[in-house]
Order: sequence, then structure tokens, then C-alpha cells
Amino acid sequence: MIPFLDLKNINQQYRAELIEACTQVIDSGWYIGGKYLEQFEQNFAAYCGSQYAIGVANGLDALILTLRAWKELGKLQSGDEVLVPSNTYIASILAISANDLTPILVEPDPQGFNLDPQKIEAAITAKTKVILPVHLYGQLAQMPEIMTIAKKHKLLVLEDAAQAHGAQIQGLKAGVWGDAAGFSFYPGKNLGALGDAGAITTNDAELAMMLRALRNYGSHEKYKNLVQGVNSRLDEIQAAMLDVKLKYLDVEITQRRAIANVYLTQIENSLIQLPLQNIDALTYKQHVWHLFVIQTPHRQALQQYLEAHGVQTLIHYPIPPHQQQAYREWNHLSFPISEQLHSQVLSLPLGPTLSIEDAEKIAQLCNAFRV
Ligand SMILES: *Cc1c(COP(=O)(O)O)cnc(C)c1O
Repeated sequence: MIPFLDLKNINQQYRAELIEACTQVIDSGWYIGGKYLEQFEQNFAAYCGSQYAIGVANGLDALILTLRAWKELGKLQSGDEVLVPSNTYIASILAISANDLTPILVEPDPQGFNLDPQKIEAAITAKTKVILPVHLYGQLAQMPEIMTIAKKHKLLVLEDAAQAHGAQIQGLKAGVWGDAAGFSFYPGKNLGALGDAGAITTNDAELAMMLRALRNYGSHEKYKNLVQGVNSRLDEIQAAMLDVKLKYLDVEITQRRAIANVYLTQIENSLIQLPLQNIDALTYKQHVWHLFVIQTPHRQALQQYLEAHGVQTLIHYPIPPHQQQAYREWNHLSFPISEQLHSQVLSLPLGPTLSIEDAEKIAQLCNAFRV
């Protein structure tokens, strides 16, 4: 069986270094808010090209706390509208609702899967305060265009960069385009901890300070509470694990690109639509391939066929947010592009330890698929 993502294999490559780092934390006697967090924050900020990185407990909290910080700083208030792609993972939308802000779903570009800048402008009202682009599947949203729109309408931009560590456009990485960006280090993400972790990147000193307080009970100084914060800290062990893995992120991205390249050049079947068909070579090179997502009207048949031939695939994602029970009030709405994507997308195995031979085998299986 070729697994969708072999996390055990991926972490096994760094086993000795991870154990050494873990041992150092254990022996330090200091487990929360110490030098390993500080070191990882500095290294991750430097990697992204941002001034600050603030570690938090997970990717959802990174988004929730950034919006919350903007409320505390007087830049947002309850009821303000946040534009977000209608085909995103639910976390991007939960972060908006959790702050008593109003998510406004905007349809994606069906080729690139990301927010369509033309549809953003049409969705802006007097209450719109934030654009929350999601760099879905490892490719940056069209940030130059989105930032132009944001400047014109004086909107804040919060990138959901949970799937796009290291992705770039015009030499600028995910995490430096907007006013802030939320990252996840969930184990299966391109930079994954050995548990939950997340971070916010920003160049805004005031925002960084508020976030450091919010993640720690609203406190800058022990027993002094500026705001009603939460407990959302990135602990020393996970920070140490991430610092080990950050060194290898660019190598892993190169390995992911090699697999994607096999799929892009070798899959040829009129029943299967490959990603990025209309996207230029420059953008393609800067994709970090968190997921390789094909589209087919025969998804169930293709998934069963691949499974029968020993290939595990997954669906990202089977139900669009507006059809979720959690958002009953949107169930009557229609987002045709999203609905079609959710019924046709299928993610092929992809990871830094998948072999080129296995990728070629998967491409050949795809080519032999018939209905
Ligand atoms: C994974 C993910 C998140 C949430 O990250 P967690 O660390 O699981 O909380 C948010 N947005 C997107 C697009 C994601 O893929």
C-alpha cells in the first residue's frame, strides 16, 4: 500500500536530532516560554522574512488571536465583515465566527483554488474590514492583486498560511504579504511538529506585543493582565522539534516539487483535470505542494480504483463550509464553484519521502483509469 502521507518515515529521517533536542529540553528543567521558543520564533521569522513570529498552541488559535488582537487594538469591532474563500478548510471561518465577526464567503478561481480577486471587490461593503486569503494546497493566493484591493479600500489582510510555509510570489514568502499571517504546525503540514503548534508572523510591533499578551492570559508581565487573554502557548519541546525540522523544510519542498512534477508531466487522462492548467511556470515553481489535488467527475470510482491498486487518496474537502451543520444559517446559499470543487477534488499521495518510482506508478494507474 502507498500511504497518502508517511509521517513516520518523514520524522524517522531526523530521529537522532529530534531525540537530542528533546533531551536538551528535558534536561533544561524549563518547559514553557523559554529559550527554545524564542529561538524557533526568531528562526521562523527569518525564514519567512518577517520581523516577528509569535508561537501559539495551534493554527486555529493563530487566526483567532490575530483577529482578537485587532479588536483589542481598536481596529475591528463585533459585526465587521471578513472576506474568506468559500472552499477553505473550516478553521479559517471558525476564526472569524469565534470573534463575533461576520464571515462573507467569496468564491475561488476554479483552476488555482484560491480567492478570485475580481470577486473580492464585488463583495466589499461599508462593513468590510478584513480580507482573509487562504493559500490553499500550498500555493499563494494572488497576493499582489489582493494587496492592491486591500490598500484601495483600507482593509486589513490576514493570510491563512497553514498550508503554505515557504511558498512565494515575486520572491516574497507566505507570511509577509498581509498585515499578519497564521501558520499551523499540525504534524501533517509541510512544517509539522510532533503534536499541535502554530504561529503568527507580522511586521507590526504593536500587534506582536498584543499577541504575546493574548496567548498568555493577557499578561506581558507576571500577574499583570492588560486584556482578557487565553492560554495558547507553544511549548518548549514542540518549539525544539520545529527548530530541527525547519532546517530541512526547503529540502522537503524540493522533494515535494519533484513528485508534483511527475504527476504534472506524466498524468494524461481526459477524465482527470490536473491542477494549475492555466497558471504560469513562475507561479508553479513557487508552489510548495502541500497537496496535489486533481479534479474528476468520477471521483468515487477513481478513489476506489486507486485503493484497489494499493494507493491511498484523501478528499480535501468533502463538504463545503456553507453546507456544514455548524453553519446551518448558510445551508440555503449557493456557491456553485465551491460545490463543484467539493464534489470533484481528490488528493494524490505526496510527501518528501514518497519515491519517484511510486509517483510514476500512481501516474500510470491514473492513466489506465476508465469508467
Ligand atoms: C490546518 C489548517 C488550519 C488549522 O490549523 P490547526 O493547527 O489544525 O489548528 C487552518 N487553516 C487551514 C487552511 C489549515 O489547513
